[in-house]
Amino acid sequence: MNTTSTRAGSATRVAIVGAGLGGLSAAIHLRTAEFEVDVFEANDRVGGRANVIEADGFRFDTGPSLLNYPWVFRELFEAAGRKLEDYVTLLPVEPSVSFQWPDGTHFTLSSNLEKLLAECARLEPGASPRVLAYLRDAAAKYDMAFESLVTRNEDSPLKWVGALSPRQMAKLSVWRSLYSELGRFFKSRHIKEALGSYGMYLGGSPHELPGFFSILPYGELAYGLWLPKGGIYGLVSGIERLARDIGVRIHTGRRVTKIRMEHLCVEGLEFADGDRIDASIVVSNVDVPTTDTQLLDANGLSDPLRRKATRTRMTCGVLTFYWGIRGKVENMRHHTIYLPDDYRGAFDDLMHNHRIPRGLPFYVSVPSETDPGLAPDGDTAMFVLVPTPLLSEMPDCDWRAEAQEVKMRALTRMAQHGVSLDPGRIAFEAIYTPEDWRDRFGLYDGSAFGAAHNFFQVGPFRAKNYLESVKGMYYVGASTTPGTGMPMVVLGGRRTAERIQAHAH
Ligand SMILES: Cc1cc2nc3c(=O)[nH]c(=O)nc-3n(C[C@H](O)[C@H](O)[C@H](O)COP(=O)(O)OP(=O)(O)OC[C@H]3O[C@@H](n4cnc5c(N)ncnc54)[C@H](O)[C@@H]3O)c2cc1C
Repeated sequence: MNTTSTRAGSATRVAIVGAGLGGLSAAIHLRTAEFEVDVFEANDRVGGRANVIEADGFRFDTGPSLLNYPWVFRELFEAAGRKLEDYVTLLPVEPSVSFQWPDGTHFTLSSNLEKLLAECARLEPGASPRVLAYLRDAAAKYDMAFESLVTRNEDSPLKWVGALSPRQMAKLSVWRSLYSELGRFFKSRHIKEALGSYGMYLGGSPHELPGFFSILPYGELAYGLWLPKGGIYGLVSGIERLARDIGVRIHTGRRVTKIRMEHLCVEGLEFADGDRIDASIVVSNVDVPTTDTQLLDANGLSDPLRRKATRTRMTCGVLTFYWGIRGKVENMRHHTIYLPDDYRGAFDDLMHNHRIPRGLPFYVSVPSETDPGLAPDGDTAMFVLVPTPLLSEMPDCDWRAEAQEVKMRALTRMAQHGVSLDPGRIAFEAIYTPEDWRDRFGLYDGSAFGAAHNFFQVGPFRAKNYLESVKGMYYVGASTTPGTGMPMVVLGGRRTAERIQAHAH
């Protein structure tokens, strides 16, 4: 590619590095605001972590599998004057997630209130009024989050909290842990453990994360859980089509090696094949600490950026397995989370002792239960996710060998719950270790979900979506604001676009 200029006609050109969901969302919002937008993606497909493996008639989503907050995606399409339904078909997943413990206890979430109340009352007799109180409380937090906090670019902590009344502030429960917040409503250890287990994806133990995050399971209960037809990648493809339809130029197979700058102003990009382009505005969708330590060519800034990266607390790594299985697998629903007996110990192992938890909490998804088109007739597509410490926390690990051991432990545990899965039935297998996640998508230290969401890494304390010291340098994605997860990075894309527009005026 030849060197291109930053201006196309009268429109300002923006170069986006990476076509993950955050990058695509930023591209769509910027294009809608009449910027000229080029997205450069290292891989052959867009989607980033939300990628796809197609083999032997099976289709596996590589990363995300739980889709909630569908309104966020609807709004993305509406912002571009289109309708989600014209691009993507969403299938409801009901009941949503089942939890299993080694003692045989099980618990299933549902967005059907009657079913949810009955299920909670089965584990905790008389729980119904407390379930309703929890839902009311979480609804208030949820509204506050989406009306006043997550959807605004606000850097000043004082102004950020100033958007809330003292009563609303008190409701946020930032000084209480997620687990004790859930304890205000539930006595059952199993209900608290199930609802608190979502904390793993935010990079903290429910005993340490702020109580505010009790809204996470609420989002799923209130707005349902969904699977796009064709899997999560069906949604990614719809978003890619939308971007191209409105004139975003997406270039795949274009690995950026350097974000060039001169005198603390962004100048453009340099690619692996030596090509260069000029651009006065660059948005990096590559994980923030990876961008800061590997892509930014900032004389005099390298040391502070490296220090900032090493100080960032990251979420855990993951081992992920993609199994194409001959025949149906009995006793499995779409989403199952296997929790250990020693719940707190498992989080301690993961977050503090830096080992794969002895009790092995893990998650299994069988999306072909909801969309049979994801596997050949009568067969099963299965995805297994096991959280692990970060690469730097297990420096001597042979991840391929570890994966084989973890696989046998997961199969043994599933068999204890009546899921008999002879390894001989696994006709197709792919495994991503934390090293693969790092190498394929640039995930810093192999962290699956990006920067953690502890108190000092949320809201105005989280890495900002622009670099104050470098003109024209912006970020979007899981490790910047507002945070991780598909809906959050899509919302983040809008905020980055708004930030660029605000700076342009
Ligand atoms: C295993 C797993 C399970 C998950 N489960 C869920 C879930 O159930 N629900 C949910 O909502 N979220 C889930 N998440 C989180 C969700 O996937 C992420 O928060 C979100 O997809 C991150 O998007 P992003 O915008 O940060 O981009 P990323 O996905 O990080 O994409 C960044 C892009 O940049 C590209 N890139 C990197 N380096 C370069 C370079 N040098 N040049 C050019 N391009 C480059 C990468 O190839 C990639 O395409 C999961 C994540 C993982 C890993």
